[in-house]
Amino acid sequence: MVEVHKVSGAAYDGNAYLVMAERPVLIDAGMFAEPTIRNIRRFIDPEELEMIILTHCHHDHSAAAPAIKERTGAKIMLSKEEIGLVGDDLATVAYLFGDTAPEFEVDMPLEDGMVLDLGDLRLEVIHTPGHSPGSMCFYERREGMLFSGDTVFPDGNIGRTDLFGGSTEDLVRSIERLLELDDVSCMYPGHMGITCNNVMAQIRDSLRFARRFL
Ligand SMILES: [Zn+2]
Repeated sequence: MVEVHKVSGAAYDGNAYLVMAERPVLIDAGMFAEPTIRNIRRFIDPEELEMIILTHCHHDHSAAAPAIKERTGAKIMLSKEEIGLVGDDLATVAYLFGDTAPEFEVDMPLEDGMVLDLGDLRLEVIHTPGHSPGSMCFYERREGMLFSGDTVFPDGNIGRTDLFGGSTEDLVRSIERLLELDDVSCMYPGHMGITCNNVMAQIRDSLRFARRFL
């Protein structure tokens, strides 16, 4: 299995994952560029980083993206539904962190059904709204890897739907879609730890939990 390293810094930060594919990418950026870049440097020359692929626009996942781009030259990718939300303190929930949202340009809009070619890996883009309007999950079919952002977390947990543009109905539909995937051997969530233990059963628990809020 390809190496994936969690490279974000603070405990309350979103998880940023360095995926050591032939074309190395970062999935989510977290809030703090410096510790993340330092951690990336433990594994690759930061200039080798090709893409910063955001699961959604929330501050704890995206705020460090422009600074990391500046230092690495990597391209920023974000859901087309959320490009217009960049820089908005409410929509990015920057206010929850007592911060303001940085403005930045998105180099490539993501949409459902796209496949990102990382050389030896192919990331399928799955639009999973609910936690935010443009939340995306990324699935590597051959390796059974799911980057689940804030849509589902381990142990049957789910992303909150009470923030800007959130919807419990959408979240339920999105989790139903994840359960249609062939198989997930490891989940890399936007918060909490990586899990490789009976992941589909954990996602089924998330669906049961989410349905209670309908
Ligand atoms: Zn979020």
